[in-house]
Amino acid sequence: MIRIQQLSKEVITKIAAGEVIERPASVVKELLENSLDAGSTRIEVDIEQGGTELIRVVDNGRGIQAEDLALAFASHATSKLASADDLFQIGTFGFRGEALASVGGVSQIKLQSRPADQPSGGEIFGNAGQYFPVRVWNGAPGTRIEVMHLFFNTPVRRKFLRSTATESGHICEAFTRIALAQSSLHLILRHNGKLTYEVPGAAGLRDRIGIFFGAEIRDHLYAVEAHQGPVTLRGFIGDPVLEKGNAKMQYLFINRRCIRDRNLSHALQEAYRGLLMSGRYAVAFLFLDLPPDQVDVNVHPTKSEVRFRDSQSLYHLILTAIRERLRKENLTARLQIPHGRQVPAPLSPGQKPTANSLCWQTDSLPDLPEPQPTPPPGRTAAALRPEGNGAGSDTDFPLPMSSGDSRSENGAEIPCAAVHAAGAGVGKAIQVHDSYIVLETPEGMLVIDQHALHERILFEQLKERLRTGRLEVQRLLIPEPVDLPAAQAARVLEQREALAELGVGVEDFGGGTILLTSYPAILSRRTPLSILQAILDHLMMRDRIPNREVLLGDLLSLMACHGAVRAGDRLTPEELSALVAQREWANDTHHCPHGRPTSLLFSKQELDRQFRRI
Ligand code: ADP
Ligand code: MG
Repeated sequence: MIRIQQLSKEVITKIAAGEVIERPASVVKELLENSLDAGSTRIEVDIEQGGTELIRVVDNGRGIQAEDLALAFASHATSKLASADDLFQIGTFGFRGEALASVGGVSQIKLQSRPADQPSGGEIFGNAGQYFPVRVWNGAPGTRIEVMHLFFNTPVRRKFLRSTATESGHICEAFTRIALAQSSLHLILRHNGKLTYEVPGAAGLRDRIGIFFGAEIRDHLYAVEAHQGPVTLRGFIGDPVLEKGNAKMQYLFINRRCIRDRNLSHALQEAYRGLLMSGRYAVAFLFLDLPPDQVDVNVHPTKSEVRFRDSQSLYHLILTAIRERLRKENLTARLQIPHGRQVPAPLSPGQKPTANSLCWQTDSLPDLPEPQPTPPPGRTAAALRPEGNGAGSDTDFPLPMSSGDSRSENGAEIPCAAVHAAGAGVGKAIQVHDSYIVLETPEGMLVIDQHALHERILFEQLKERLRTGRLEVQRLLIPEPVDLPAAQAARVLEQREALAELGVGVEDFGGGTILLTSYPAILSRRTPLSILQAILDHLMMRDRIPNREVLLGDLLSLMACHGAVRAGDRLTPEELSALVAQREWANDTHHCPHGRPTSLLFSKQELDRQFRRI
């Protein structure tokens, strides 16, 4: 029989201290976790007035010995930890022995419990930390606990409680987190006697998500599973159409404990790079299971943050598993008429790009030179040519600039250009408004944003060239000195290695001066200062230094954006044909690296329906 014992002073000093009871939802969380640690398979929660008047939790777990009931309310008394060493191997939700003591101190409490193997159990009453003698109780096996009039003896804390609706919202959230993580647990939540949620034990994760978040989300999820040594990642990720305005729908569980972790959330967002606009967040329910000695939960009293032994490899696991899973889906935006799925709005003209949505826009870089009237040698359609066809040194296939001159030269032949480009299932294509390409496909008609698509193709090609060491680099015979504020110079130098991989050579000249020794050839239209400035803007935009993979991704997308044809650039038939042909060859051509859709599909069926042909 597991017994409760007082922790030694030595262990107490090693435990993350702090108050865990902030509001009714914290009580619900602590009580539910106690029920889970007791091996319960069914838990009922009743709350009244947002939990401020009553929180009752009834479980069918292993119960508490009558002789231990008083000790359960003592500070630092627990059955889950024996020695300080156990702190490195925590397999239970609780271990601090503080929750019941804290709750009991600020409420009127009744705890009734009976271990299944005992003929009778016991009950104990407490009033603001004063406890009455234990009495015999003959209820069903398990534990029943009632917390009444929370904070009644601490009027200041009671005054800080919010409306009933807000407090019960927090309780629902705490309840949801537990329900999602416990696959065979039967859970019930009632508010003021009315059933709020009932989650049957047989409900799997997808069903549970459906219960709490509705069918729309449940039906747009992709299962992910990946392994890395003893670490397992499982769960569901949302189709980009489920995007949200904040990260609240990103649930991350470490050994079934719901936590927040900026690094791992970043990995998730990073995996959706190119599929979501800046400021939009993916939906995800991720469960990481790892050996207890690889994660320290004794960091924060509420255990909402943890520390990992190797957070970099977890970052990598999440990023690659999700990215690969998303790649398997055909994520072309489908236009549904008249009211269909929302296509994310592109950046408006005045809108500044953010860290997640970097576009090398003139308004974000005031010192950039104006576009020149004729294409300089560096500006070529190299990237419009299929890989392996001499890509890399082309100057013979210039793309027109967005100025008027070149437009009039070949304008006449374009509007009705019909090309049969290489690649499976690609039919006629025309350019319209010098910005869009309309393409016939077996499914219907695709309208392509030429800049967004080209940018995506360039991004993929640059990535591939980077991977295979074929990124073209322009070396400066005389290194260009650039003066920067000391902090910025240090930031650039810190990233020297990642920058060198991209062909951006920087050296410290001392006193805040940096020498630029080389840069990627695709940026040859930029002045050295503007290249460095853009990199810096990017580095300073993030509140902490991005890891190598993120930084490279960001900088590649900067380069791709800069190198791509723009809206307003008229394409020659060859260019049009090359761009369309390569659509099939890039990895994800459905969205540009900033998340704008590159193409919209009007299905044949939808066209027929709209024209009343069917
Ligand atoms: P901790 O969970 O950190 O051990 P608590 O103050 O939450 O501390 O609980 C103190 C002890 O009371 C637990 O260690 C456990 O032995 C016992 N206990 C609390 N709730 C339950 C429950 N629902 N079922 C069985 N035992 C419980
Ligand atoms: Mg506990």
